[in-house]
Amino acid sequence: MKILLVCPEYPDTFWSFKYALKFIFKKAVNPPLGLLTVAAMLPEEWEKKLVDMNVMTLNDKDLKWADFVFISAISIQKESAQKLITRCKEAGVKIVAGGPLFTTKYEEFDGVTHFVLNEAEITLPLFLEDLRNGCAKYIYTSDQWADLKETPIPSWDLVNMKKYATMNIQYSRGCPFNCEFCDITLLYGRIPRTKSKDQVVAELESLYLQGWRGGVFLVDDNFIGNKRKLKKEILPAIAKWMGWRKYVFSFATQTSIDLSDDEELMQLMVEAGFDTVFVGIETPNEESLAECNKFQNKNRDLIACVKKIQRFGLQVQGGFIVGFDNDTPSIFQRQISFIQKSGIVTAMVGLLNAPAGTRLYHRLKKENRLLKAISGDNTDCSINFIPKMDYQILIDGYKKILSTIYSPRCYYERVKEFLKEYKPLQKRIFQFRLKYFGTLLKSILLLGIIGKERFYYWKLIFWSLLRHPRLFPLAVTFAIYGFNFRKTFGNYIEIRSNKKLRLP
Ligand code: SF4
Repeated sequence: MKILLVCPEYPDTFWSFKYALKFIFKKAVNPPLGLLTVAAMLPEEWEKKLVDMNVMTLNDKDLKWADFVFISAISIQKESAQKLITRCKEAGVKIVAGGPLFTTKYEEFDGVTHFVLNEAEITLPLFLEDLRNGCAKYIYTSDQWADLKETPIPSWDLVNMKKYATMNIQYSRGCPFNCEFCDITLLYGRIPRTKSKDQVVAELESLYLQGWRGGVFLVDDNFIGNKRKLKKEILPAIAKWMGWRKYVFSFATQTSIDLSDDEELMQLMVEAGFDTVFVGIETPNEESLAECNKFQNKNRDLIACVKKIQRFGLQVQGGFIVGFDNDTPSIFQRQISFIQKSGIVTAMVGLLNAPAGTRLYHRLKKENRLLKAISGDNTDCSINFIPKMDYQILIDGYKKILSTIYSPRCYYERVKEFLKEYKPLQKRIFQFRLKYFGTLLKSILLLGIIGKERFYYWKLIFWSLLRHPRLFPLAVTFAIYGFNFRKTFGNYIEIRSNKKLRLP
């Protein structure tokens, strides 16, 4: 059997880092972890090939070669997935589709031969068994949660690692919280399911043996869902492995804000090599936090929490949302002030949307406010329901937030605000590589010479060299990120220098 695993294209979004990748000579941020894990679950004797359409072209000869094309996608890849299905149909090749996009809306896709939905650890073996017996069904679903102890190490040998900025692994699925707009609990449940420490270490070792050095993103939606196990088993095991392998990786992940309540956990994460966490802050408005059931963020000084995490040595990236029923037009300025004061450099501000099946979706449906399917990109100015606030005021206010926080002045101010707080634990020995020099030269040319932000760029470069020389590479990285976000959001809004803008 010949299996072609295909990852559809991602459009240009906040997380695609399209314009930043060019500085570091990479094609995409992460490889398709789900497909690589599925590949490892297929019979060993089957031939497998991976085409990630984000880093390479899908050729007709690949489709002709395959007995089956396996597609996995998330909602943002819908358009590319649809085109891919059409191409497969035209080539006469059978399609197996799975992953979050198809799990939540498989009925919208014609032409798929078999849907293998929900978690592959449960449904894929059932499909393979039926296929062997010549009686494969159209659809496989499950209402059970998989035991992650069964999840194999992804087939890294199928990937050309040189094309990606970071690698990724998964330690857990599920989140104990229950935010109204979130579909993670719908897809993976509220009881965090985890891998064992031996599995995690084996996955790190397999990345190492495959030749990877650099960043590793733990894709868990809430890495700290089971704090006890992390502190007792997982983080000490990772720290031990990292010491043995001379700190070849640095880790980033996603956590809830209650990370800031647990100093021991933050310390252990930093010692294990974590340097970045993405946290869903959402909003400084208490009523909106109550509305979306984000009680873990309520009744706390969110800025103090962020600063505390930063001081422990973890860069905080933040998710923010506007468009809650309880938001009034003052929310836009409040969000801007919050983001600037927090020193959250990478701030993903999105409009509230209601993914299918979430509690928010059902509430809005009851209230007759649903409009259409979501685009999957919550930063493209689209909204799939009728907001309480006047639509035009909401969109204008949203654009105002983006054009302000990503204006060169505000952005570079935020970078400095963060670097002043940040105290990284540096165990990793800096090894100079020629490509770093290439990245620096490119940033000098595009940002320092022809870029509109050149004044702010040079100010940051000299300030970091003089005051925080160890953080100089990070300062350059942030300058590149800023360029990336301005270009990405510039597709929707106009970002100017905002020299005269006054922040409260
Ligand atoms: S904390 Fe994050 S992952 Fe968990 S339910 Fe809320 S938004 Fe979803």
